[in-house]
Amino acid sequence: WKNAPHDLGQLFDLSRTHGDRTFTMLDDERVTFEQNYRGAATLARALQDMGVGKGDRVAFAMRNLPEWPVVFFAITTIGAIAVPLNAWWTGAELEYGIRDSGAKVLIVDAERYARIADHLLALTGVEQLIVARSPAPIAGTQALEDIIGTPAIWGTLPDTDRPRVEIDSDDDATIFYTSGTTGNPKGALGTHRNLMTNIMSAGFAAARSFLRRGEAIPDPTPRTTLTVIPMFHVTACSAGLMGTMAGGSTMIFMRKWEPVQAMEIIQREKVHFTGGVPTIAWQLLEHPDRANYDLSSIEAIGYGGAPSAPELVKKIFEEFGALPSNGWGMTETMATVTSHSSEDYLNRPTSAGPPVAVADLEIRADDGVTVLPIGEVGELWARGPMIVKEYWNKPEASAETFVDGWVRTGDLARLDEEGFVYIVDRAKDMVIRGGENIYSSEVENALYEHPAVTDCAIIGIPHRTLGEEPAAVVHLAPGMTASEGELQAWVRERLAAFKAPVAVRFVHETLPRNANGKILKKDLKSLFADRGEQAA
Ligand code: ATP
Ligand code: MG
Repeated sequence: WKNAPHDLGQLFDLSRTHGDRTFTMLDDERVTFEQNYRGAATLARALQDMGVGKGDRVAFAMRNLPEWPVVFFAITTIGAIAVPLNAWWTGAELEYGIRDSGAKVLIVDAERYARIADHLLALTGVEQLIVARSPAPIAGTQALEDIIGTPAIWGTLPDTDRPRVEIDSDDDATIFYTSGTTGNPKGALGTHRNLMTNIMSAGFAAARSFLRRGEAIPDPTPRTTLTVIPMFHVTACSAGLMGTMAGGSTMIFMRKWEPVQAMEIIQREKVHFTGGVPTIAWQLLEHPDRANYDLSSIEAIGYGGAPSAPELVKKIFEEFGALPSNGWGMTETMATVTSHSSEDYLNRPTSAGPPVAVADLEIRADDGVTVLPIGEVGELWARGPMIVKEYWNKPEASAETFVDGWVRTGDLARLDEEGFVYIVDRAKDMVIRGGENIYSSEVENALYEHPAVTDCAIIGIPHRTLGEEPAAVVHLAPGMTASEGELQAWVRERLAAFKAPVAVRFVHETLPRNANGKILKKDLKSLFADRGEQAA
């Protein structure tokens, strides 16, 4: 007897009970739960006819289209493994993902097709190529619309049950690729259980925050989310899509993140929730035209996946009147491991929150074995039913990262007495200056306190005798000024002098980020190339 969905098939069935409620929206297209069900069930049968069965990989790459969930559920409900590829990837990167996952069928939108076209000859493992939203037929491919029609007609597809395939909660369901912030993206092989866990964790975390505020837990009601982060990112899928399917909520997609358009949608559709990554929250909060829109329907702004400035929390609460929330997770944990919101977050703005109900956390020393006491900084290890099995095709990296049911996160963190976790830095971003550890995020937070600084990154630059020194790349608010010397002095007033950046470079644009909102620190090093290697 199961009182909550245990696999994606059960979740898919549950979603059908939401019937005519709007499930996804993009511009003037609206897709209901029933239409989504019929579209996906029809595609699922077509995939089976193409010979896709249990454990086969089907890769897909598309922007946030209503087709995305249809494709995702068509694949996973027949027991095949969905491989959502990063739609920001170049042709060569897409080729890597398709080849690495060994996909048998590939489904892309017309824009991704244009990128991948030159690589098809090399992709001999792909037996079927399906293209969505192509303005004209493409030889050698099948149009998705020839299989299921356009979203407008999904409701008229035959009213038949989805294919029934025996699925165990521990069967493989997805391969999501890590962001590639620190190296080549790795495919994280996740199970149905990993994905379902998030629905329960989110419910528990929400209940906790009502209780901590002394309020009764309300009955869950469907909510409208403006989904601005890409669906191929594990958070959007496991936290966003899973919760939406279970709760009968609505996801509004945007073709491209654009704050004015976002404010128009929030006002028109009375959006309750948005966010995703900290940058998006900042861009909404600081937009000069914000007062021209009625954004009062927004109840909460949540983000995670990247470090955020502590000021953001207060700003969301005080200036926007919404509840801020943050969460820590990684592709290897199928999203949320810690979840932080409301008063707890206001009181501890530098924390990423306590672990979700099903997660265990430990801070361990470099040896990966010794558990450090509360308050000490070390590597964060996590355990729980959300941790993926392994990396696809990477036995060595898997053995290093997945140890006895725990995942070694590569993040440095500390815990407080109440179990709140403070992410200090990525182990790889820590700058070691002559043996002294400098956590880049600590220096970044000091810089963020400066009124002129809206975006910044600390990176290590080479030094002949000290090994590395911290340097800063800074973007200033329009119309504001600050000099290199002023910012160095600012940091020295707040932190030990050796942590102050030895050089500051100012950039006109906000810093380069990947699809998940992370600053591409490895791309910033070249800004300091003219310094050469400094002597002691
Ligand atoms: P790769 O592993 O390929 O180098 P990546 O680690 O950036 O890329 P993801 O799995 O998307 O790929 O990101 C997980 C990482 O994001 C975490 O290890 C952590 O460094 C960072 N992160 C996630 N959530 C938060 C948060 N709330 N605060 C600070 N950092 C976060
Ligand atoms: Mg990582």
